[in-house]
Amino acid sequence: MSAPDEPDAPDPHDAPSVLYDVDGPVATITMNRPHVANAQDSALIDGIDEGFDRAEDDDRVRVVILAASGRHFSAGHDLTALVGQAVPDSWRLMRSTPEGKMRHERVMYFDRCLRIRNFRKPTIAAVQGSCIAAGLMLACMCDLIVAADDATFSNPVLRMTGAGVELLVEPWELGIRKAKELLLTGDSLSAEEAWRLGLVNRVVARDALAEQARALAERIALVPPATAEIVKDSINHTADLMGQMDAFKYHFMAHHWMHNTATAQQALTAREKRTSMREVFADRDRGDPAAGPQQ
Ligand code: ZN
Repeated sequence: MSAPDEPDAPDPHDAPSVLYDVDGPVATITMNRPHVANAQDSALIDGIDEGFDRAEDDDRVRVVILAASGRHFSAGHDLTALVGQAVPDSWRLMRSTPEGKMRHERVMYFDRCLRIRNFRKPTIAAVQGSCIAAGLMLACMCDLIVAADDATFSNPVLRMTGAGVELLVEPWELGIRKAKELLLTGDSLSAEEAWRLGLVNRVVARDALAEQARALAERIALVPPATAEIVKDSINHTADLMGQMDAFKYHFMAHHWMHNTATAQQALTAREKRTSMREVFADRDRGDPAAGPQQ
């Protein structure tokens, strides 16, 4: 959703978008676009999926850590392709029809996320810095979340007309009332507040994040894989019985209805006229012009 004002690494165009590493029983899948705060483009989403393929096929791997290079976990979906001249033909084509846009989002966002949620081995997200919108959705697909003390969590898309992102995780993660507050205000939760609300399992010092996520993974790896798989599946099934999957499916359709409204289409056209994400976020922070004078 957002990009840092100052890049925290040179733009490594030739570097892989995702790194994969296995050490003992733990595989680590690392998002590796730190120059754009790990904004998720198709290559990054494909790279995560390929990492899970490898972890699936490797019997040595008992636990998967989803981590991120640089200062931030993920700024969400990479919207730069929707700004100004950067719009590639493939994106125009993709969203030229409601059917095309829905297909794209179902395959790349909805199904890919649920694949992680339903992955048979336990997963841990290691989150530092900004964890925004689709970054929050992605982290919440993991079974456990370890947060660095500098982590912040937000989903500030409503003022940009977005009906949340594709999976509405917030009511499940925060409870109904806090979910409404987070989404309607666009405000951020600190790591401590996220821990208090149960969104994250533990908060650790930033420089201990990798080590602490690893220590947690090693404890979980002591459980026989078949047992871990059954219990994870049963807990997910409990969420299903509480209606989680039905709620996810409903929201996905509602999210798409919103994409196709005049409200959202006009905002998209306006966004294409902007030349930078800075301008897009300034628009967002000003709010809906129809609401009247601001401040
Ligand atoms: Zn969408």
